[in-house]
Amino acid sequence: MNEQNILIVRCGEVALKGMNKPYFERMLVDRIKKNLKAFEGVDVRRHEGLIFVRAEKDLDLDAIIKEISKVFGVASISKAVEAPSELNAIGDEAVKYMMKLIDERGIKTFKVEGKRADKTFPVKSPEIGRIIGAKVLVGCKVLKVDVHNPDVLLHVDVRSDRTYIYEGKIAGFGGLPLGTNGKGLTLLSGGIDSPVATWMMAKRGMLIEAVHFHSYPYTSQRAQEKVEDLARIVASYCGRFKMHVINLLPIQEQIVTNCPEEETTILVRRFMMRIAERIAKDTGCMMLITGENLGQVASQTAEALVVTDASVSLPVMRPLIAMDKVDIMDKAQEIGTFETSIQPYEDCCTVFLPKHPTTKPKLERILESESRLDVEALVEAAVKSQEIVNIIPE
Ligand code: ATP
Ligand code: MG
Repeated sequence: MNEQNILIVRCGEVALKGMNKPYFERMLVDRIKKNLKAFEGVDVRRHEGLIFVRAEKDLDLDAIIKEISKVFGVASISKAVEAPSELNAIGDEAVKYMMKLIDERGIKTFKVEGKRADKTFPVKSPEIGRIIGAKVLVGCKVLKVDVHNPDVLLHVDVRSDRTYIYEGKIAGFGGLPLGTNGKGLTLLSGGIDSPVATWMMAKRGMLIEAVHFHSYPYTSQRAQEKVEDLARIVASYCGRFKMHVINLLPIQEQIVTNCPEEETTILVRRFMMRIAERIAKDTGCMMLITGENLGQVASQTAEALVVTDASVSLPVMRPLIAMDKVDIMDKAQEIGTFETSIQPYEDCCTVFLPKHPTTKPKLERILESESRLDVEALVEAAVKSQEIVNIIPE
């Protein structure tokens, strides 16, 4: 009898990391443990290139699987049962497993896929499939073999100490374990794009810190709460992080008063980048992250992006740059940020929106406009006025 539920967790790209493989695997195990710390009676350990999670029978297995599937670096998860690596014992366990599926789902056909990870096991992979298949046929009289389109493809994975029996794989997101790729500062708005961009960088192993700009009282308290809601959803993947919150209104007012109207947006964006760069340097972030997307709006034409980039020296990551909006929206649905993003609250970018924003800004002209402002002092004051919100996943 199995007192515990067993989950086999497969590492994605981690498996390809050569010499660094143990390091990546350890990071992955740590992250899985962190995500499961609310569950008492769970054991996580790596063994022969896989991660095994054992959970006491009375725990909510689906909730555990959901938490594991959110860990970056996890390629897939299977619910498994185990048996000693001996053919009769494996056969008995396989029959029991199939009887349960007959009960639950009324399955009629099956195929066994045998695999011998332990090369000292005396029977080869195809033979394991045949032998266990024959035992299942005897033990479960209603079942027939169908090698082309079986109701259940039963995997029998023979390893040195134990054999694991399972069907099906629950997909993870892949990627790399958090903390294996430095830290980035994300510019998080309340829109659809920036949460997805943040998630994508975190998925590649990057730790996250965030900055959010508002224009209170032109933007409401509720608008900021929406951003915090979004940030918490992102944090359910990338772990708790700090969000630096900055009122951009003093800068926007200076720009509106002193600079050409059509340049407002691009000038504001350059200030956002500068402030973000300052915070990044203060907090050990190696790069900036935005949800910008080529051609999506006036401030995201090729020309505008070049002018935006020229305001900072840190690299700016734009993981959505070449995606289509529909695909970004699909991703937002998949990760669970979409419904919150589309709530209609004002954003600081929509305050003082010019009627005809320039789509082909020239850097010389923009620098000329900025020379009418005390850029340094404005950035300094904005950074000084920041409030920090701790974003903790639910
Ligand atoms: P999003 O859907 O992410 O808001 P967007 O399509 O509305 O993006 P913009 O408003 O031009 O595009 O913003 C481009 C990027 O600049 C955003 O993806 C985000 O990274 C950053 N950004 C915009 N507004 C803010 C804000 N209020 N606070 C922090 N970052 C912001
Ligand atoms: Mg926006």
